[in-house]
Amino acid sequence: MQKDIATPIRTKEILSKYGFSLKKSLGQNFLIDPNVLRNITEQADLTEDSGTIEIGPGIGALTEHLARSSKKVVAFEIDKRLAPILEDTLSPYRNVKIVYEDVLKADVNKIIQDEFPDIKDIMVVANLPYYVTTPIILKLVTENLPVRGLVVMLQKEVAERISAGPGTKNYGSLSIAIQYYMTAEVAMIVPKTVFIPQPNVDSAVIKLIKREKPKVEVTDEPFFFQITRASFAQRRKTLINNLTSQLPDGKEKKEKLLAVLEALKIDPSRRGETLSLEEFADLSNALYPLFHHE
Ligand code: SAM
Repeated sequence: MQKDIATPIRTKEILSKYGFSLKKSLGQNFLIDPNVLRNITEQADLTEDSGTIEIGPGIGALTEHLARSSKKVVAFEIDKRLAPILEDTLSPYRNVKIVYEDVLKADVNKIIQDEFPDIKDIMVVANLPYYVTTPIILKLVTENLPVRGLVVMLQKEVAERISAGPGTKNYGSLSIAIQYYMTAEVAMIVPKTVFIPQPNVDSAVIKLIKREKPKVEVTDEPFFFQITRASFAQRRKTLINNLTSQLPDGKEKKEKLLAVLEALKIDPSRRGETLSLEEFADLSNALYPLFHHE
């Protein structure tokens, strides 16, 4: 087996051989610690029958670990300047395909159908570009892709928000948006020192595994998410104040909103951050007719 791309020496050699300048605006912080890469790969529980989707292969540091552990890897990379480097560094791996596209614009579902026609177990594994972490995760989680889950490295603070439970300061509409579809667990905390250049914040690897069905049953998904966003609009405000100020005609509907909360035994003076997913589901199901009459 050839030497890992991700050793500090080899990474520097590759970057200087190609005169590659890292672009901060594309979140290009490359991993230079093979142990971290091995750990990320292990968290994904890949087998020789797995298909792996990577976002942002960079110079291929994580890609080669994924290629060794799965049947096929498809990686989305926005920066075409990396093409000659990846052709070189990944030449020993014949099971890797790089798609030079912005993952936010890509039709990921179609690419999965085209590239993994016979593969049943599909995982997303990535060291995400930090300037677009949340939109990428939200896209991959809400597009109902045929994947088992995601193992991704991101800012520690975002990992904590995604995995937070009710009653904690990190719990918010992002926690709910993800936990509705996935179980979420912080798998490891990663120091800044394993990247070049070092990012400003610490990182974490989060493991998201798709639930068989969403955690709660809701009448209307967009309305459920609208209610959760409204409830967290101003964190210091009470639930009733957020709902009346955020929902259409909320002020005029205040008495009816209070009646619904009373019927559900949810104290209107609670803060949004204390409500569980189940309570948000009950609330949005009960409020749905009030905002969608006729
Ligand atoms: N996987 C490599 C590693 O771990 O060393 C590089 C990770 S680096 C944090 C993020 C990578 O994502 C960069 O290669 C960057 O060019 C790429 N990238 C940034 N925005 C992207 C986007 N919208 N779609 C696809 N790739 C993107």
